[in-house]
Amino acid sequence: MRQTLEELQKKAADEIEAASSREEFLALRTRYLGRKGFLTDVLRKLKDVPPEEKPLLGKLSNDIKKTISERIDRAIEHLDSEGKSDILLKETIDVTLPGRRTKYGKIHPVTRVMGEICEIFSILGFSIAEGPEVELDYYNFEALNIPPDHPARDMHDTFYVTDNIVLRTHTSPVQIRTMEKQDPPVRIISPGKVYRPDSDISHTPMFHQVEGLLVDKGITFGDLKGVLTYFLRHVFGKETVLRFRPSYFPFTEPSAEVDIRCVMCGGAGCRVCGQGGWIEILGSGMVDPEVFKVVGYDPEEYSGFAFGLGVERIAMLKYGISDIRLFFEGDLRFLEQF
Ligand SMILES: [Zn+2]
Repeated sequence: MRQTLEELQKKAADEIEAASSREEFLALRTRYLGRKGFLTDVLRKLKDVPPEEKPLLGKLSNDIKKTISERIDRAIEHLDSEGKSDILLKETIDVTLPGRRTKYGKIHPVTRVMGEICEIFSILGFSIAEGPEVELDYYNFEALNIPPDHPARDMHDTFYVTDNIVLRTHTSPVQIRTMEKQDPPVRIISPGKVYRPDSDISHTPMFHQVEGLLVDKGITFGDLKGVLTYFLRHVFGKETVLRFRPSYFPFTEPSAEVDIRCVMCGGAGCRVCGQGGWIEILGSGMVDPEVFKVVGYDPEEYSGFAFGLGVERIAMLKYGISDIRLFFEGDLRFLEQF
């Protein structure tokens, strides 16, 4: 019987060695240790052995049972942990792989320049005023001293919504709306979109303007010069040279166009300045007394100045861009350079 037990142990060991799946191990456990298993079968014969051999054989068979059981347990455990490490291997994160880059948007160059302009004027104490882009003819023209038959309307090609309503051709209507609502002193800039049916290398049907208005007692043309000089030297550099050239606008008297010495050639003459050495940069003037009368300000008591500039034009000069339409084509290769 002892021999039978030892043979059984060896056979079990071999079979456990050969098995490879969980199902096989569980089958082996049943075959050897189950209620109808080999070992149980042998133990059942224990009652037939002589009494003096019983303790030894009993111990031996218990040892064998324990050994087989432990080996199967270990084998299953091993199998489980291998399965886990397989999963871990498959799901592992390779930290050496390059990450996915987050794409950041950029501020549009026109928006950026608009922001810079507003910032400079806010340092000078101007606040920002806004108004509607779809505007009454009255605010866009009439109140600014441009009646229906006025030749100045030719300077402004206009999108008409109805006979009486237009897409604003400048942000000057905001000045009228502001003065209607408040008494002097007034110190505002009005940035925003304006519309004129025009499209070529230096015009787009929509573009951006910033206009300024300052009204108080004793304001002179000297104040206008001081403010615009400070502004343009902030935008184009301390060495910027300005030139005030007499001009005409219906809502200012006297009026002046302001040129800066060409930023490209320094005044020597180039393609950008049309060989003239100067670049026209903004329009300005002392507010016409007629405009003050419309909003109920006393022109004997108050004076003021106004100015207006195209934001795209400033951006083009600042960044050396030759075609205004590039701003609005949405081409990322262009926009990502800023
Ligand atoms: Zn030039």
